[in-house]
Amino acid sequence: MISKRNLVFLGAPGAGKGTLAQILCQEMKLAHISTGDILRAEIKNGTELGKKAQSYVTSGGLVPDDLVADMVAKRLLEKDCQNGFVLDGFPRTVNQADLLEKALAKIGKKLDGVVYFEATEEILIKRLTARLMCRKCNSIYNTLFTPPKNKGVCDKCGTELFQRPDDSLETAKDRLKIYNEQTAPLVPYYKAKKMLSTIQAEQPKDKSYPELIKVLS
Ligand code: AMP
Repeated sequence: MISKRNLVFLGAPGAGKGTLAQILCQEMKLAHISTGDILRAEIKNGTELGKKAQSYVTSGGLVPDDLVADMVAKRLLEKDCQNGFVLDGFPRTVNQADLLEKALAKIGKKLDGVVYFEATEEILIKRLTARLMCRKCNSIYNTLFTPPKNKGVCDKCGTELFQRPDDSLETAKDRLKIYNEQTAPLVPYYKAKKMLSTIQAEQPKDKSYPELIKVLS
């Protein structure tokens, strides 16, 4: 069992936040809030928010803070968050972290912890450019490290897998640059608040998952 249940997963794209969040949330009955998944669904459904976010997501840039923060504040009100939640991909700027703190305070909640997924740039690029995702259930695979049992098809729901357009080498490099400039300052930010635990995210998930459980216990 884990004692920390209101969580932020922090780390560069490709660090494995989404993969471990899916496993943890299923096991511990937490809500998995991936801002990237929500934005991709909004874009696919052609909503107002989707239209506003599209150009940022396609180019690997950051969607404006207020749009994403409002979206997360609404999501946190949903019933499945009562037992705890993992924010995966949010906050991505110090301003978003402030907006999150305020949104949580408004509903009488606070973060129990922030987990930092540490990995080198070399492995991040390798993972991003070999990543495949399920169109339906958002399960994540990797052609090098964790391939699906049947090529191009999701093990869980049988749907076709695809490569995210922003996982191309060029856009992946841009996203890592933006991470270093805008998101990496959250590491010292949460460290100063004594909320940060670090896990070595370069290892395969059967090694990093027990490490995650340990820091949340
Ligand atoms: P992800 O699936 O977390 O890699 O996110 C995919 C894309 O969605 C990012 O490259 C951004 O364009 C956008 N996005 C996701 N989360 C955020 C956020 N917290 N702030 C701004 N943009 C975001």
